[in-house]
Amino acid sequence: MKKYQCLFGPVPSRRFGRSLGVDLTPFKTCSFDCVFCQLGRTAQKTCERKEYVPIDLVTNEIKSWLETGGAADYITLSGSGEPTLHSGFGSVLKYLKKTAIPSVLLTNGSTMDFPEVRDAASYADVVKVSLSAWDQLSFERINRPQRKLQFKKIIGGLKKFSKQHKGELWIEVFLLFGMNSMPEQVKKIADHLKEIKPDRIHLNTVVRPPAEDFASALSKNRMDSLKSFFDPAAEIISEFSTNHEKNVRANEEIIFSMLKRRPCTIEQISDGFGLHINEVSKYLGKLMQSKHIHTIFKKTDVYYTPVIKKDKI
Ligand code: SF4
Repeated sequence: MKKYQCLFGPVPSRRFGRSLGVDLTPFKTCSFDCVFCQLGRTAQKTCERKEYVPIDLVTNEIKSWLETGGAADYITLSGSGEPTLHSGFGSVLKYLKKTAIPSVLLTNGSTMDFPEVRDAASYADVVKVSLSAWDQLSFERINRPQRKLQFKKIIGGLKKFSKQHKGELWIEVFLLFGMNSMPEQVKKIADHLKEIKPDRIHLNTVVRPPAEDFASALSKNRMDSLKSFFDPAAEIISEFSTNHEKNVRANEEIIFSMLKRRPCTIEQISDGFGLHINEVSKYLGKLMQSKHIHTIFKKTDVYYTPVIKKDKI
């Protein structure tokens, strides 16, 4: 199995089926430090845009992956932080236009205030933005942004982007108990979204271990009761939905690569890769034995997560 520096997966994704991940920043480089982040606390909180990894390395890895029979439903710029902090993310999206696989940009929207970022993001087939606050104060409490960032500017940038983008714009609202889930708070978030006019709205809550213990999930019933605030109608995204056969060849390395970006239960890995639970158990056993991963508990679920930050597998 070939090892890649910037690619991971394909991994099962809630909305994108099998998604090849492209990681453009070192772990974990982000302009936010969200209380719900599944990657843990932000190691490098920055707004600096630069070439964190050489573009040639990224495009050569994608080329090589495709040449060796790589297949996925989507190729997604995501991973260890905020992909638009990479000054060349638009070049990667442009390169992906040459492939038959649609591209997705997952972003926190923090750089959308810059025209050059909006232009670069326009190369993506789908841009999915996370937006969970309604004003500067709630933004600072939930997303704990780099100190220069202003909520109003981000909203302004998103409105401009929505007008210019020819592809799909999706917004994910991450709802947290006691932080942004009161009806009047959700209504304020929904009011911003009415002006941004995304094609789809997804509601999400804490399903994997968050950066902070106080980031708590909403119940399914509560999420259902908040859907009606949104226009277009919001959808509660379900765990690991997929849109075609489960035919990704998973092995120890691919599973470890996914766990580094996303803690999972054994059932989630089994469902996502279409592997029998016994086979997943075998891979997890080896990774536990070699001390690459360990378990953490969230309510009644056991999640597998890496022990180390650097890829030593
Ligand atoms: S959830 Fe996304 S935007 Fe928030 S800290 Fe994590 S990587 Fe950054």
